[in-house]
Amino acid sequence: MADTGPGTLLRPSFSPNQEPIPMKIHEYQARQLLSDAGIPVPPGSMVETIDDAVSEARSIFESGETLVVVKAQVHAGGRGKAGFVKLVRSVEEAREAATFMLGNRMVSVQTGPEGIEVKRLLVAAGVDIAKEFYLAVTLDRSRGLNTLIASAEGGVEIETVADENPDAILKTPIHPLHGLEAFEARSVAKRLGFTGRQIGQAAAIMQKLAGLYADTDADLVEINPLIVTPPSDAAPDGRVMAIDAKFGFDDNALFRHKNLQAMHDPAEENPSEVRAEASGLSYVDLDGNIGCLVNGAGLAMSTMDIVKLHGGDPANFLDVGGSATKESVTEAFRIILGDDRVQGVLVNIFGGIMKCDTIAGAIIEAAKEVGFEVPLVVRLEGTNVDAARKMLEDAKSEIPSMQTATDLADAARTVCAAVG
Ligand code: GDP
Ligand code: MN
Repeated sequence: MADTGPGTLLRPSFSPNQEPIPMKIHEYQARQLLSDAGIPVPPGSMVETIDDAVSEARSIFESGETLVVVKAQVHAGGRGKAGFVKLVRSVEEAREAATFMLGNRMVSVQTGPEGIEVKRLLVAAGVDIAKEFYLAVTLDRSRGLNTLIASAEGGVEIETVADENPDAILKTPIHPLHGLEAFEARSVAKRLGFTGRQIGQAAAIMQKLAGLYADTDADLVEINPLIVTPPSDAAPDGRVMAIDAKFGFDDNALFRHKNLQAMHDPAEENPSEVRAEASGLSYVDLDGNIGCLVNGAGLAMSTMDIVKLHGGDPANFLDVGGSATKESVTEAFRIILGDDRVQGVLVNIFGGIMKCDTIAGAIIEAAKEVGFEVPLVVRLEGTNVDAARKMLEDAKSEIPSMQTATDLADAARTVCAAVG
């Protein structure tokens, strides 16, 4: 799934397959966080059925609004262009929009051709838009500073703007201790073209967004679009508000944010990843056909390199870490073998805290339980390796698809040859 937004703006080489994907939340949850931080957001509710969408739309219309927006809640952007953000002017139109969205998979530039199922909708008051802007805070790794990113060319084309007109994107480094200061935020607001009272409103939103980014240990907060409404009697200079927002959180800091943990929606994630996490394993999905079971991120990287060097392509990595048990390693094999793309499995373990005989025991267990129909190549080294090799030797007749390798290069060569 392609990531966009600041990924494109700050990290042109960002590849979701190689960097950890931070925990994401739904737009309705993001709007709640913004609203709690004092950033204006039109009122709305999350619903899961057509009937609830209809009654929510009805109550918004009855409160005097003339426009309602129905939006698919999925962890992917590009909804507008895909037809999964709909502005409606009647309860009947709201019903149609909800029926369509809950009944069809959403295919957008960010989802891949198979699309994703929509289980939740946001039904919110629609607003009239005079102009759309882009606002985000993320870490600029090259400068080592959190950075406010702002553009007057907001809306659905921000990636194109980043490519074709990078000067239209303003980047303001944020002081680690002082945060984003009022004078800096006002200066950005003016450069974006806000005038009159809009300047103070936009600057306050920027400061609050920077504060929210820090408070939630986010690695991305994005408002796109930030909008200004046309002048009205109640607000002669228009009102500045957020109508779409996206967050990514640093997984390693989530333990101290119970409220954010509660927002996690496993239904939106790769099922193998969710399963792995539940067993304390870490799983990375890749594009090839060789399933890899390793211990440690460094060994995972070198395993990937050496498999590639020998012409192979990993389908995934399962890192069993240092404290895995026979049960969790057996679960690791279930996850790897449950992936249809896997045509061969490479086990590459350097036994330290994780003992080789634990892995050998799990291989034998997994062979009994799930069976290895695809070729299995095992390379073990380190703590208790002799005991482990003996266990595997004795089990060879029960696991005919298994080959053992003497070193990493031999293992890579063997598994690449086995999958053809
Ligand atoms: P995304 O396509 O997934 O990023 O979804 P957005 O929520 O950003 O909506 C896409 C576009 O739909 C926005 O850029 C707006 O142009 C339009 N849109 C969304 N909500 C409203 C609304 O309340 N009023 C109006 N007039 N347009 C809206
Ligand atoms: Mn958007």
